[in-house]
Amino acid sequence: MQELLERVRAAAAPAALCGKVADYIPALASADPAALGIAVVDAEGNEYAAGDARRRFSIQSISKVLALAYVMTERGEEAVFSRVGKEPTGDPFNSIIRLETSAGRKPFNPLINAGAIVVSGLMPGSSPLDKGERFRAFVGSLLGRGDVARDDAVYGSEKSTAARNRSIAWFLKELGLLPGDVEDTLDVYFRQCAVSVDAVDLARIGAILCLDGVDPVRRGRVLAARTARVCKSLMVTCGMYDGSGEFAVDVGIPAKSGVGGGIMATVRDRFGLGVYGPALDERGNSAAGLAALARLSDELDLRVL
Ligand code: GLN
Repeated sequence: MQELLERVRAAAAPAALCGKVADYIPALASADPAALGIAVVDAEGNEYAAGDARRRFSIQSISKVLALAYVMTERGEEAVFSRVGKEPTGDPFNSIIRLETSAGRKPFNPLINAGAIVVSGLMPGSSPLDKGERFRAFVGSLLGRGDVARDDAVYGSEKSTAARNRSIAWFLKELGLLPGDVEDTLDVYFRQCAVSVDAVDLARIGAILCLDGVDPVRRGRVLAARTARVCKSLMVTCGMYDGSGEFAVDVGIPAKSGVGGGIMATVRDRFGLGVYGPALDERGNSAAGLAALARLSDELDLRVL
């Protein structure tokens, strides 16, 4: 496996040249576009890592899956899905257009920004800071460690530049989907997106999802099976935004990307996968990460679709 990961990394690395590091959140622009890390955790809890798999980056939209799992755990499935749909959009992750034009007048799914902001608004806690800290503790509980950090430079950078997310959030308020203060809810969302992880962390959480909520490392249940399944289904249909269909064809496994350069993927009963490559394609998905996952899918026959 180790040799395979090194080989896949070498083969996928040139794909980064076709991508570009995100700069609409200014603090993300300083990432090294050539970085590429790959990690795998198997169903027995064995861990394999190659390249920059221990380099930290902000989790960004991958947090949307974890926030969904967290809020489903804390508030129940109905609390989420009475306010957010389960359908893919085919639109970019930060699109606002369907909030006004769709008959349902609620975000299509929890993995686009609009849906994720609604989910952030459902997190328990007494203040944005408290909600953010509790979410961070939840991520720590999945990873089995209490030292999960937040990248405050990224948090501050997004908070001071997020005109589009503010537009989305105010529209959600108008639709009656945000109970509290709009700026407070956005603050929770920015905090969750700035949680710091590495590719091995993503592979570990992917491995928990692969076993429907059982952690192969600690050999105990950390998520309800239903919660894990809902997350994985939405990852298949919506996890790579308007690239989800192409990813299903090319790679064929549930996955979720973030503009920090991470992708978390999971293969039922077999593997959790984490990749990091901050140069992104035009849809905001890691260019080299996609190449690495496509290759791994072929080599390990991962396709479940
Ligand atoms: N925090 C980012 C945003 O809202 C997350 C987007 C992403 O990772 N695709 O724009």
